[in-house]
This record gives sequence, structure tokens and C-alpha cells, in this order.
Amino acid sequence: MQSRRCAVCKHFRRRCPSDCIFSPYFPPNDPQRFTCVHEIYGAANIGKILQQVPIDRRAEAVDSMYFEAQCRKNDKIYGSVGVITRLQQEIFKAQSELAKTQAEIAFHNVNDYNNNTNVEQTTKLEFPIDDASIDIMDLSIDQVVVDHQAACSSSAFWSY
Ligand SMILES: [Zn+2]
Repeated sequence: MQSRRCAVCKHFRRRCPSDCIFSPYFPPNDPQRFTCVHEIYGAANIGKILQQVPIDRRAEAVDSMYFEAQCRKNDKIYGSVGVITRLQQEIFKAQSELAKTQAEIAFHNVNDYNNNTNVEQTTKLEFPIDDASIDIMDLSIDQVVVDHQAACSSSAFWSY
């Protein structure tokens, strides 16, 4: 037969009243949860904290105590502060990396812009295209060769 006592009442081997303040947050199927929080806060203090917290926020409070208790057990010196500090360092590192990457992107964008602008200017300066040169470019190569042969074979050209 499965016990209906909550993990706290089961731990203290007492009857679990219908209005047990621990019952909704420390179910009998997860005794480790209470053991962990009890080890750090003590059952009496957990009860006092729960009484000071509005009913609709008690679940959050117990989750928070459980998290802090786990952190304290894993890190006797810093507890949850150690986790927070490590995460803050990771955020700072990621922000630094992001700022560096954004700066590199900005740098490359400026370089690309300058390079593209220089190519256009160079092209313009080296190969100025005006109306006269467009006329020359419109001539076909065959036409130029024929004109050249005609000029070379003309008697006026070879006459002395
Ligand atoms: Zn109980």
C-alpha cells in the first residue's frame, strides 16, 4: 500500500494532515527533493518561508530553495553565487566576442565599400568612355580590316 504522506511528514514519520503546508511541494515520490532542501534550510525554516510567501508563489519559492540547496551542496563556498558568477562571465565573454565580430564585420564592410569605389574610379580613369570612343567601338573588326586593305591598295597611297 502506497503512503499518502508527503515527503516531509514521511521523513519525520508523522501523520500528514489534509492541510499540510509541505504536501503540494514535496510529493512522497521524490523524497530526495526534501532531503536536499532540508539539509541546507532545515524543515522548520522551509515551513516559515512558505508561510511568508503567497500561496500562488510557494511552488516557485520551493523550486528556488531546491535549486539553491543543490548549488550549495555542489559548491560549499559559493553556492548559487558561484553559478551566477560563472554564467555572468560566460555572458561577458559572449558579449565581448559579439562586439569583436561586429567590429570585424564593420571593418570588412568599409573595406569592401572602399575597394568597390576604387575599382569604379580606376576604371573610369584608365578607360574614359566618351561619345567618340563609343563610335569607334561600334565599328566591326571586319569593317576596320576592309578599310585598311582599301587604303593600302589604293594607287594614291603607293604612288610616288
Ligand atoms: Zn505532510
